[in-house]
Amino acid sequence: MSDVIVAGWGRTNPARSSLYECANQQSVELVISDVGERGALARGLGRSYGDAAQVSGGKLVGLTGRIISLDPTSGVVIVDAGVSIDELLRYIVPKGWFVPVTPGTRYVTIGGAIAADIHGKNHHRDGSIGAWIESLNLITAVDGFVTVSPASDPQLFWATIGGMGLTGVIMSARIKLIPIDTPLMEVTTQRHNNIDDLMEAMVSKDSDHRYSVAWVDTTVSGSRLGRGVVTWGDHASSERIRVGRGRRVRKYKASQRFSVPEFIGSRRTIRRWNAVAFSEFWFRSAPHSRADELQSIPKFFHPLDAVGNWNRLYGRRGFVQYQFVVPDDRPDVVVTALRCVARERPADFLNVLKRFGDAGDGMLSFPMRGWTLTMDLPVTDGLGQLIHHLDELVMEAGGRIYLAKDGCSSPQVVSAGYPRLNEWRSVRSRVDPDGIFQSDLSRRLEL
Ligand SMILES: Cc1cc2nc3c(=O)[nH]c(=O)nc-3n(C[C@H](O)[C@H](O)[C@H](O)COP(=O)(O)OP(=O)(O)OC[C@H]3O[C@@H](n4cnc5c(N)ncnc54)[C@H](O)[C@@H]3O)c2cc1C
Repeated sequence: MSDVIVAGWGRTNPARSSLYECANQQSVELVISDVGERGALARGLGRSYGDAAQVSGGKLVGLTGRIISLDPTSGVVIVDAGVSIDELLRYIVPKGWFVPVTPGTRYVTIGGAIAADIHGKNHHRDGSIGAWIESLNLITAVDGFVTVSPASDPQLFWATIGGMGLTGVIMSARIKLIPIDTPLMEVTTQRHNNIDDLMEAMVSKDSDHRYSVAWVDTTVSGSRLGRGVVTWGDHASSERIRVGRGRRVRKYKASQRFSVPEFIGSRRTIRRWNAVAFSEFWFRSAPHSRADELQSIPKFFHPLDAVGNWNRLYGRRGFVQYQFVVPDDRPDVVVTALRCVARERPADFLNVLKRFGDAGDGMLSFPMRGWTLTMDLPVTDGLGQLIHHLDELVMEAGGRIYLAKDGCSSPQVVSAGYPRLNEWRSVRSRVDPDGIFQSDLSRRLEL
């Protein structure tokens, strides 16, 4: 056990806890058998942005793990929850398989991915990760070690998918992978001068591709409001590689070019002027239109992972990643949110727009059919008011915010956005009546 101070990826609201590194079921059971009123919580790689993976004054359970088996015919992998997507990709890609869903970083654990029911650039086609989980091994407060599937206990299964670690500790999972022919992506890029054109392009072309996402510039306003660059991608076939390069490419290489040192993190490096300069450069350097470019998996899915600890660039006060989704028929909320942010002028350049497909069955899962916008907002004095205003817009439109990113919202915003919250609460009281599993997020949002 060690005493630690941990925070989310946004580095706001650090919390002191005791961390227990657990290698097996018995050690997790031992930790949760003696939990005081400050509770316990599983923690993965700490890539949730706010306070979802911390429990101040409580016990944190860290897990190590391994890939248990991969069925080469069905592509079903059984994997410990402490394994990261990075480790999994290194094992499965050379064998011709890919994770069904990956977030924008490969440094998340399987446990963290399931607890947040993560979505990727393919949500419009493949849904979130919960749709690909065949069963879970979970340690709950009441029943101890249980195997749960959508057939054996649908309530507990779908309360755990997206349940932010509050139904118990996920120990391992059976996950269906997707087959790939090569470790390369075939990518189409288009740049658009305003938000209307950008959204129109996504509506008309998303269904032609497995993956789709757009970067949006929030530093410009007026007729250029929401200008951006959309990329669509598909796994490249081996025929395409032979035609394009004259040889088959099998290797999967993912590396970090450099890491931002700790001392940089004491000052805010990202300022308004360099966010504007970066956004201008990023927009101008994108092609007007380019089709069929071959890119590696890390370049297409995880470009930010090339720089370690990039979150330190936001300085000591950290940043909030605000992500919301609104129904398909409310694109106006995206436009209004962009207008608000452009007016407030925070130093913001990592903004992502995406269209989700249908919602899955997770009771607290974030994705629902519609538009999702993600913005990195550095903590400054007026940020609370801006976020409060955005929350109101999202609530009014019948949308919701993403718990894995949240660090400052209110119980009202969450209960308005998650209509199955009470159903989830009743499952949670069944499996954890004494509230052993808690987080700073669950306390703040009165989950
Ligand atoms: C650069 C970047 C890009 C991202 N892009 C996306 C994206 O595209 N889509 C997306 O959906 N998310 C995205 N995320 C968010 C990230 O995928 C989620 O926050 C994910 O949960 C982080 O996993 P983790 O292992 O770091 O978990 P942590 O952050 O450590 O924990 C997150 C939650 O999972 C719970 N948890 C962790 N392990 C377990 C376990 N074994 N059992 C039970 N509960 C557990 C924790 O209690 C906590 O509530 C991104 C994050 C970053 C930093």
